[in-house]
Amino acid sequence: MAKKDKKSGKSGSSGKGAAVAAATKAGRAKKASKHPDSKAAKATALAPVSFSDALRVREGFILAECDPGSTPAFDGDKAAGQEALAARAGEIGEFQERLYAESKMDGQRSLLLIVQGMDTSGKGGIMRHVVGGMDPQGVRYTSFKAPSAEERSHPFLWRIRNALPHPGQVGVFDRSQYEDVLVVRVHDLVPRSTWSRRYAQINAFEEKVVADGTTVVKVMMHISTDEQKARLARRLKRPDKQWKYNPGDVDERMSWPQYQEAYQAVLDRTSTDAAPWYVVPADRKWYARLAVQSLVLEHLEAMDPQWPAVDYDVAEEQQRLRAT
Ligand code: AMP
Ligand code: MG
Repeated sequence: MAKKDKKSGKSGSSGKGAAVAAATKAGRAKKASKHPDSKAAKATALAPVSFSDALRVREGFILAECDPGSTPAFDGDKAAGQEALAARAGEIGEFQERLYAESKMDGQRSLLLIVQGMDTSGKGGIMRHVVGGMDPQGVRYTSFKAPSAEERSHPFLWRIRNALPHPGQVGVFDRSQYEDVLVVRVHDLVPRSTWSRRYAQINAFEEKVVADGTTVVKVMMHISTDEQKARLARRLKRPDKQWKYNPGDVDERMSWPQYQEAYQAVLDRTSTDAAPWYVVPADRKWYARLAVQSLVLEHLEAMDPQWPAVDYDVAEEQQRLRAT
């Protein structure tokens, strides 16, 4: 039985969030109307809100009150969730192709999915199950590790800027600029006066990115400490998973409360109208994958990319082709 999420967010979404919700509801209404028993379906299987609405971080959001085992905006079980994930893969693929096609005719838009989360929170699974369904030529994927010597010689946003998606692309960040106020803050890798300025720098940076035509979708994969322990234990037990285990992960576990505090600060200070955060309960992998896929899909739907008009005469070309 799916639990309801209890967030302390205030009502009233604005700007892009509202557009996303409206587009999603319109899309659902269209699909639902095809079913003879759509009213019944709406009342039971479909939750009344979009994933974007249900998961968006609004003022007053408290991470500690968000249940990592909950499944907001989805009332089905694991089997239904996996089915939905598979069914929507084609839809996401078509939107991505449209976005890509649009850019071939001067379109300037792109989408950037940022995925943050503790070790074992399932970031890799998102890459395989959500991003893996897209056409690789339209995807720009970057995984951010501890910065290299060269990266450290530049301001922290330098490597981020270099990895932004080009027009038509879906950019995907596995970790991101937020590491510079997460791991860096927890372990005092730079002075407090330096990292504390970064929230505002990140906001200004993202505002510019959005203004330049990129829709930014920021996702925090929210797992519980118990679930992380179970996942690390599984990694240690299975020879085919041991390579994923890093002894440092256990050290990081000891800083769990500090990380939760650092994440709360990120959500408090960088969930902006231009680029809001979405917290995805991630103790159930099938739900987290479906939720991230749906967030991306809802944003692509709201962008509504169009097949570009071609700059040649189709009928004339058909005639020319026939003559060959
Ligand atoms: P993984 O994602 O498990 O391959 O691990 C990547 C590691 O790089 C994590 O431990 C991150 O905390 C670390 N990392 C990523 N970005 C930064 C950064 N800006 N400063 C320090 N460590 C970082
Ligand atoms: Mg790791």
